[in-house]
Amino acid sequence: MPEHEPKKEELIALIVEDDQDVCDLLQRIVESQGYMVVACTSAASAQEAFVANSPHLVLMDWLLPDMDGLELVKAFRSSERGKYLTVLMISGKDSPEDLATAIASGADFFMGKPVERKVLDIWLSAAFQHVRDSLQREEDDLSLIKIREELEDNNLQLEEALSRANTMAMEAEQAYIEIHQIFKTVAGGILLVDKHCNLLRCNDSFLQMAGVSREKVHDQKCYEIFHSCLCNTEQCPLQRIKKGEKRIESEIEKENSNGTTSYYSIISTPFKGPIGDLIGVVEHITDITERVKAEKALAESEHRYKELSLVDELTKLFNKRYFNTQLQLEVERANRHGQPLSLLLMDIDNFKHHNDTYGHADGDRVLARLGQVVAESLRVNDVPCRYGGEEFTIILPETSGEQATVVAERIRSRFAGEVFRPTPQDTVRKTISIGVTQYRAGESGQSLLERADQNMYEAKQSGKNRYVLK
Ligand SMILES: [Mg+2]
Repeated sequence: MPEHEPKKEELIALIVEDDQDVCDLLQRIVESQGYMVVACTSAASAQEAFVANSPHLVLMDWLLPDMDGLELVKAFRSSERGKYLTVLMISGKDSPEDLATAIASGADFFMGKPVERKVLDIWLSAAFQHVRDSLQREEDDLSLIKIREELEDNNLQLEEALSRANTMAMEAEQAYIEIHQIFKTVAGGILLVDKHCNLLRCNDSFLQMAGVSREKVHDQKCYEIFHSCLCNTEQCPLQRIKKGEKRIESEIEKENSNGTTSYYSIISTPFKGPIGDLIGVVEHITDITERVKAEKALAESEHRYKELSLVDELTKLFNKRYFNTQLQLEVERANRHGQPLSLLLMDIDNFKHHNDTYGHADGDRVLARLGQVVAESLRVNDVPCRYGGEEFTIILPETSGEQATVVAERIRSRFAGEVFRPTPQDTVRKTISIGVTQYRAGESGQSLLERADQNMYEAKQSGKNRYVLK
């Protein structure tokens, strides 16, 4: 049953009958049943009316002037509307064979002529049942089509979603393969650590550095596997990344179980999720033990070289160690041969003030210049030394105190003539005070040095930029 019982005034009946009287009669009867009626007297006009009105019921003659009624039924049936059409054929051709032919050609009901009202009413009543069933069928078919269309649409969407999911899965698979390759082939250790120090992932190089097997790292914290001096301090890269730093380079020293020490460089960067949220930290660890060892060895050899060196790097004069050795030798020589020996001890005047005003780098330039002036002012056998700080000594073998003052005065005046430009605006001249003294037979080198120091002090006290001989 249709959801709503069809009303006859909403149903359309098409009458096709070339006999005008019969046509009129049929029209009256059918209209009296409540149908809207369209009446035609030819097959051609009936076909037009059929397309224009989409009738539910057709009452038709077999023998028409312009077309065989059976052909017309077939034409109606072949249309979309024809599937749900009820056809009552009314004809004088009413042998059992004719009836069978008409039904086979698509007629639902058959009534012989002449038209009798009572008989027609019976057929119309049966036809109405058929119309009603056809309407229900049409409704069912339509909703079936709709369901099928929706189903197809859903299938299509599902297929598209599946296809997208497949593509994404393939891309993810590819990315996984690539990451795996990088993890395997990269020289250093790589590890991913979440915000709570849980070790999420690491490569074999890292396991080797940490000296643990892959089974052991399951469910472990990073500091349990690879403890370093940064752990539990503010320098922990993870803590710094969490505070917003983007890239951290650290170097750590790590005691191995066999007592040796290894050194590692660690580059830490944020480990972010698909929407840019911070998941943890990516750490790239490189073993730099060989490099650090080489650097340490180099630094050590430089240190030893400096210790063994006899020359002061800044002034290129001899250093204090050489001075001490050399003074001892010259004292012994002077005692042995009875030849004179003199010593100069000089100190730059107001040097602390210069350093405080222009900085130590400029102070070094002054010291270096004094070194040059001294070197240029000496004879072959004289031994110039930087004694320490801004103090210089010169051992003058085979030289009396008086002769030594000539050297002292030469150095004093030359250095006083030097012009320094610690800044583009400032012009500065520096002076030195010099203690001069001659060796006294039998005394020690230390005693000679102390007297030179006293004389230098006296030169300072008496106005600087001078020498004192005693
Ligand atoms: Mg006829």
